[in-house]
Amino acid sequence: QFQTVGFIGLGNMGSRMANNLVKAGYNLLVHDVNHDVMKKFSDKGILTKNSPLEVAEASDAVITMLPSSAHVMDVYTGPKGLLNSGNQLRPWLFIDSSTIDPQTSRKLSATISNYNLKGERGGCGTPAMLDAPVSGGVLSAETGSLTFMVGGPEEAYRSATPLFLSMGKNIIYCGGPGNGSSAKICNNLAMAVSMLGVSEALALGQSLGVAATTLTKIFNSSSARCWSSDTYNPVPGVMDAVPASRNYDGGFATKLMAKDLKLAAESAKEVEAKTPMTFLAEEIFREVCSEGHGTKDFSCVFRHYFSGKDE
Ligand code: NAD
Repeated sequence: QFQTVGFIGLGNMGSRMANNLVKAGYNLLVHDVNHDVMKKFSDKGILTKNSPLEVAEASDAVITMLPSSAHVMDVYTGPKGLLNSGNQLRPWLFIDSSTIDPQTSRKLSATISNYNLKGERGGCGTPAMLDAPVSGGVLSAETGSLTFMVGGPEEAYRSATPLFLSMGKNIIYCGGPGNGSSAKICNNLAMAVSMLGVSEALALGQSLGVAATTLTKIFNSSSARCWSSDTYNPVPGVMDAVPASRNYDGGFATKLMAKDLKLAAESAKEVEAKTPMTFLAEEIFREVCSEGHGTKDFSCVFRHYFSGKDE
């Protein structure tokens, strides 16, 4: 159904997702403000475009994978943005996989539904937008095993399923516009709080004389078992092949976690939800960033906040 797919934002995640679309046989067009990454794609014979608008004018669907809401707004509504071709758009589907606030996702979805399509495409008269952030990180992006959380019109979600399946394994429909973004920030909030709880408990245990390996064995066979203890343990040397055992390099950057918690805190304020853990978690991860560890994996919160040992 989609022959030509545009991809904008070829960073850690986007470059790998774009590669998987090529492997799945889509005709890909790409754009990024970083000319070095564009060159890597053009060297592989993939068509590069100089602006989001040029991508839009030649694509059936466009996917964006950008750092934050401001970048997404710029790519959609800025000069030479995706929506800059008058009141008729060429792509009939826009998918934003960036982690952004649900309010921005809803606003963009409403804006796009007011446009008309250039020509007849896929039997639907207006373009649609899906917010489809991902969970899984760089390795899952590489192996095409991301989880997509999708918000927007259900019909558009069904049409886009083959695209998602070329980049991910679990595709979960969350409801109307903005619900994918809401689900993503809630997932990362739960992950942040569980990482803080496990880190604090393992540090306290060590101070009380129980080794982290012993305590982890207990957690993993008891009621404290969770992803932060049995899959992504934050204490160096307790598990192999996790960021904690390679100086917290790679993985999910602390600054991205701080960004996602800010989105959760802002969304909570908007709906007047009580979220004391969100605010505390945001404060802690911000402090870790201001101590200069924003690019380290977020599990470094163990060392820099709880263990009392510095780099
Ligand atoms: P990144 O910073 O590596 O990549 C972002 C890319 O967007 C860069 O190549 C940058 O040059 C490009 N870009 C920025 N502004 C642009 C513009 N105006 N026009 C065109 N290109 C532009 O970020 P990432 O790690 O790939 O993450 C992307 C999104 O995915 C973020 O929202 C992040 O929170 C989310 N995410 C990341 C991970 C992860 O593990 N890295 C996991 C899940 C979700």
